[in-house]
Parts: sequence; structure tokens; C-alpha cells
Amino acid sequence: MAGPDRQRPGRVVDSRSVSAVPVEHVDELRAYAESAAGCTRCRLAQGRTQVVFGAGNPHAELMFVGEAPGFHEDKQGLPFVGQAGKLLEKLLNGVGLQRSDVYIANVLKCRPPGNRDPQPDEIEACESHLFRQIELIEPTVVATLGNFATKLLSGRPLGITRVHGQEQETTLGSRSVLLYPLYHPAAALYTPAMLKVLESDFARIPELLGRSVAPQLEPELALVPSAAPPAEQLGLF
Ligand code: SF4
Repeated sequence: MAGPDRQRPGRVVDSRSVSAVPVEHVDELRAYAESAAGCTRCRLAQGRTQVVFGAGNPHAELMFVGEAPGFHEDKQGLPFVGQAGKLLEKLLNGVGLQRSDVYIANVLKCRPPGNRDPQPDEIEACESHLFRQIELIEPTVVATLGNFATKLLSGRPLGITRVHGQEQETTLGSRSVLLYPLYHPAAALYTPAMLKVLESDFARIPELLGRSVAPQLEPELALVPSAAPPAEQLGLF
């Protein structure tokens, strides 16, 4: 579905290249991030250093969605800056991509205290930020990292162990995308067997980026996956 001028694997998009994502979307994304920086919709606003909205190429065809900022992310205001972020970059490099080629965000934009699991009401309060990001970035592939993002965006209660590496066409925002569930890099850091699976799933990303996705049917119905599970069903594994 993406036009020929959209970003491709291994190709660094420069700001002069023509993109299928309208320039005004980039401005809107920036403006939206600025307004979200003051969000107080849930209790996590009280303990955060700052909102970690997301970072990366606003024209990205590949977008990653993780769980929530951790200690370092909260301090630096960027997603995936710790060990898990380093592993994510290594995995990207392994398929010919740089971090600057993709966009990275989380389900929750503020750090839960002590890195505890996101609570259902926090996910509910925050999810519209994520859906708006997806609408404005217009990725072709949305790779969910771990259980929370996978269950929220797939609209299915199946855990990541069951569904990793299995792409699924879905509509998010007003956009048809390939949803691609992956293990969370933090979970793979100390589990060699899981890392092997993650590497193997990553290896399919270039192929997925080359696929076209069928046009969406009813964009006005698509802001939230219709079969989204109750947030309380979202667990890490
Ligand atoms: S976690 Fe999301 S909803 Fe809660 S305060 Fe932060 S940005 Fe707002």
C-alpha cells in the first residue's frame, strides 16, 4: 500500500525525500507530542520525570510498540535507551536497518513506579495517544514487543508465546497495517533460547515490509481494534 517513495529497509530517509506521509502529519505529530507532554489523565503523571512520547522517523514504515518507559527512559525522555534498547538496535542492524529508520513508542507514555506492570485503567487512559501516533506515522508494519502491546493492538487475548512471529492484518487508526508480535527484547536479554526466536522473527521483517496490505474497509470504525480485550486481560507472558 505504501508508495514508492516511502522508506524501505536499509534506506535512510532524508528530509528532502518525498514521502507518502503528508508533511502536515509530521507537524501534527510534533504538536501532538507537545500536548501529550502535559498529560495528567492517569496516576502515572505524579511519579514521572517526563512523558516518553516516542522517537524515531516520523515517516517510518516500521513502528515498534513496547510496554512502558523504564528508569533510564523516564530520565532521558526517550524509549528503549537501556540494555533492551541496545539489543533492539542490534537486531535492527541485523536486518539492515538503523534505529533512525524506525519509530519506537510504548503503550504507556509514563513510567510505572518501580517498573511494575501497567494497570488496566492506565492502559485505557493512555491508549488514545498510541492510536493517534499510528494514525499520523502511517506505518506499514507495527511490531508489538511483548504481551501488553500485542494484546492491546491485536484485539486478541492470546499471549506472546503463542503468537510471536505470526503477522496479522488489522486496522489501526485509519490505517491497514501488518501487526507483527515479537518477544520483548528485555525478556530475551537473559534467555538465550528466547533471543534465538527473536532473531529468527526479526529476520522476516524485510519481507513483511515489502508486502502490500489490503486497503482498510471502514476507517471511521478503526481507532480501536473492534475485538480489543478488556485491559485486565493483558499480562506480560
Ligand atoms: S501514562 Fe499516558 S495517560 Fe497516564 S499520564 Fe502518562 S501520558 Fe497521560
